Amino acid sequence: MSRLEISNLRVLFPTDDGLVKATNDVDLGIEEGENLGLIGESGSGKTVLGMAILRLLPKDARVEGVVRFNGRDLLSLREEEMRRVRGREIVMILQNPTSALNPVLTVGSQIEEVLRLHKGVDKRSARKRVVELLKMVRIRDASKRVRDYPHQFSGGMKERAMIAMALASDPTLIIADEPTKGLDVTVKREILKLLKEVTERKSMLFITHDLASAAEICERIAVMYAGEILEVAKTEDLLDDPLHPYTEGFLNSLPSRGLKPIRGIGPSLIDLPHGCKFHPRCDHATEVCMREHPPMLQIEDGRQVRCFLHA
Ligand code: SF4
Repeated sequence: MSRLEISNLRVLFPTDDGLVKATNDVDLGIEEGENLGLIGESGSGKTVLGMAILRLLPKDARVEGVVRFNGRDLLSLREEEMRRVRGREIVMILQNPTSALNPVLTVGSQIEEVLRLHKGVDKRSARKRVVELLKMVRIRDASKRVRDYPHQFSGGMKERAMIAMALASDPTLIIADEPTKGLDVTVKREILKLLKEVTERKSMLFITHDLASAAEICERIAVMYAGEILEVAKTEDLLDDPLHPYTEGFLNSLPSRGLKPIRGIGPSLIDLPHGCKFHPRCDHATEVCMREHPPMLQIEDGRQVRCFLHA
């Protein structure tokens, strides 16, 4: 059964310059126990999608579509019900642990708070569980470090603490938004390894611009561009044989594949191109690409691609 099923999700932001189409008719599913990577350049709509699932967007955002989680449409829940889902069943690990952690409270008390709020655990058991959680995310001397303030933790330890906090409520879905951003290579690898381990029996939406990180811990990858999903494939298929010209360009721009950037720049989300959103940058564009919007095509083995080349 799909843990999360997103259908026709559209997020619009009215601005003085016009309507920002942040995501456009997104269809995406995450299975039980699956790690799905959502990759794309910054400004492609990845973070907006994560925030829309949790209904954390600013009030003026117009959100349309269906976000079904364990059978319930999150977009139609009352705020009170949504608060119970948020933090208990779905948690988000944000990109910047320094700003996500409260500097005037100890790391331990912040995790403890989650346990008491969402699991109804008493103070004594909560403290014991916090130490267990810190051990689980490999914080050395966990029983001592539990009394430390965030500034006493290194960047990697803060990220581990954020993961411990996310695990505290034993959620079924974790949304991790660039959790390794700004970490050095060794720490990044350790955090990825840890995330893979702790999400073995959970579902995760792993949002990143770093394809190599997504490839390391995700079974499938969805590629996002200008608010749209352009390709969804099993990780190895996407890496070995990208079907969408944007995915191919994205791969070729990686240092390991020759650092060849895609020509041009991403479009303005206020004034998106007609037809295929990628056509101004695509070497394969034909007249139909400029005129018509390509539908998402279902290729064998659950692969999907939005490109006329595969019609
Ligand atoms: Fe390129 Fe056309 Fe495919 Fe768009 S639909 S990616 S323009 S070939």
